[in-house]
Amino acid sequence: MHGTYQSFLVFLSIAVAILASYTALALFDHFSTISDARLRRACLAGGALLIGAGVAAMHYVGMQAQQTASGLSYRPLWLAVSGIVLALLVMATLVFLQTRFIDRQKRSYGSSLDALNHQLIRLATLDSLTELPNRVTLMAGLEQAVERCRSNQQIFAVLFMDLDGFKTINDSLGHSVGDSLLKAYARQLLTLIPSHDMVARIGGDEFVIVVEQIAAADEVLTIADSILHKMQEHLMVDGAPMHVTPSMGIALYPRDGESVEELLKNADAAMYTAKEAGRNTYRMFESYMNESAQRAMEIQRGLYDAIDNHELRLHFQPKFNGVAGEVVGAEALIRWEHPEMGLVSPAHFIPVAERSGQIIAIGYWVVAEVCRNIKEWEVCGLPPVKVAINLSPQQLRHSDLARNINNAVASAGVSNSQIMFEITETVAMENAEKTSEIIRDFHAFGFEIAIDDFGTGYSSLAYLQNFRVKQLKIDRFFTNGLDISGDEGYSIVSAIIALAHSLNMDVVAEGVETHTQLTKLNELRCDQVQGFFLSKPLAANDFQIFMDRSDTRMAV
Ligand SMILES: [Mg+2]
Repeated sequence: MHGTYQSFLVFLSIAVAILASYTALALFDHFSTISDARLRRACLAGGALLIGAGVAAMHYVGMQAQQTASGLSYRPLWLAVSGIVLALLVMATLVFLQTRFIDRQKRSYGSSLDALNHQLIRLATLDSLTELPNRVTLMAGLEQAVERCRSNQQIFAVLFMDLDGFKTINDSLGHSVGDSLLKAYARQLLTLIPSHDMVARIGGDEFVIVVEQIAAADEVLTIADSILHKMQEHLMVDGAPMHVTPSMGIALYPRDGESVEELLKNADAAMYTAKEAGRNTYRMFESYMNESAQRAMEIQRGLYDAIDNHELRLHFQPKFNGVAGEVVGAEALIRWEHPEMGLVSPAHFIPVAERSGQIIAIGYWVVAEVCRNIKEWEVCGLPPVKVAINLSPQQLRHSDLARNINNAVASAGVSNSQIMFEITETVAMENAEKTSEIIRDFHAFGFEIAIDDFGTGYSSLAYLQNFRVKQLKIDRFFTNGLDISGDEGYSIVSAIIALAHSLNMDVVAEGVETHTQLTKLNELRCDQVQGFFLSKPLAANDFQIFMDRSDTRMAV
């Protein structure tokens, strides 16, 4: 039994044991981070197999060494070698499996990260409704345009636009229709603008177009014209045709501003001028527009305190019976005396109040003030006077207008039959369906309605008939035409009066300034007349004195 161990085989068996154990421990360490439980169990089993194979290999190599030493029968070395090979194979398989698993996870994490990133970029740069660039992207694009055009000495244009009457659509048809309209409008805009130019939506119904690569200002006017022209067509919104027009303001770099802020501010000011000019049009920026924007801001600020500081007043312009000549009523007209700005014309502050929404509070103040005056006149023993109050577009959009006014008039103790309301033809026809409803509400409370400034807008005769209003007020333009437009002017007024009478409406001629006009209106059987020739608007006290005089007949 005495022999010599082969030291080579002894060392080999120890090396195999160390290698197998080391590999198993390394694999365990490597796989312990695997979150997938099934894979981790498979790896542990593989590790155990590996240690087992290692131990078996060590055993056989040890046995070989011992047999060689003892001279006993020979056990083949291949058993040991195959154990090691098997262990290595298992290890390679496990490493391969895990690498594939990690790769797959990495790919899946990578694609979700890409999608998330993409979504974040879209949210940050695009308007979620129309998918047009948003304000942030616009500002960045404008900065770049300024840089480019400064170094290349080129010009570019900023078109600032908003949609006429969009608020009415939102209020009357709901926000989802409004949103669909904005989307349809955005799509239409994209078809009209060269692909290298930017169209952005910066909020609400406000869009901005940046037009580059233009040689002269005229080119941008062509684009503005084509937008206006195209928008004359209907837009298909949720399968139904809708009509919406924009008002645009245009500022040119560098003429109208060298910074992004200045260009946007000036394009915005030009847009307001376009709105005031009657909508569905555009205006190039001019420096006076900034002054008027500044003035509008002052007016808006001043108006906040106008009611509380008792700066608003009402004047009353008498309305006379066309035949008998006695005073049959008055139209209440607002005046504003600001401590610093002085007398501010309603033509200036009403549009500002209309845009800022302050007109709502002012409108209710007018009703309360008219009622207060009617009561005062009554106390002084004057015969009942019917007072006409002008309603603004914003007021008409205000829900429960007729009911609120009815409550105000009732709480003042005034009869509803002593108050009537005037709605201009343009506003009435803007949404004739809605106007019909409002007029019905007013009629239900016993208020009468007049259509004001008739002849300056586009009337649908069907709606005019449908409104069933008490009065039609002929715009001063036609009254004036009685003097300056000869037979033609006379024929037009005659036709309007005949039309109104055929629809059972009384006719009131506004702006009567000459004796000739008055005579002709009498010939044409105009029911009522008002104007400077008969009496200018009077302060409440003066109106009372005027009415008090025994002779309140007009100077025919
Ligand atoms: Mg009026």
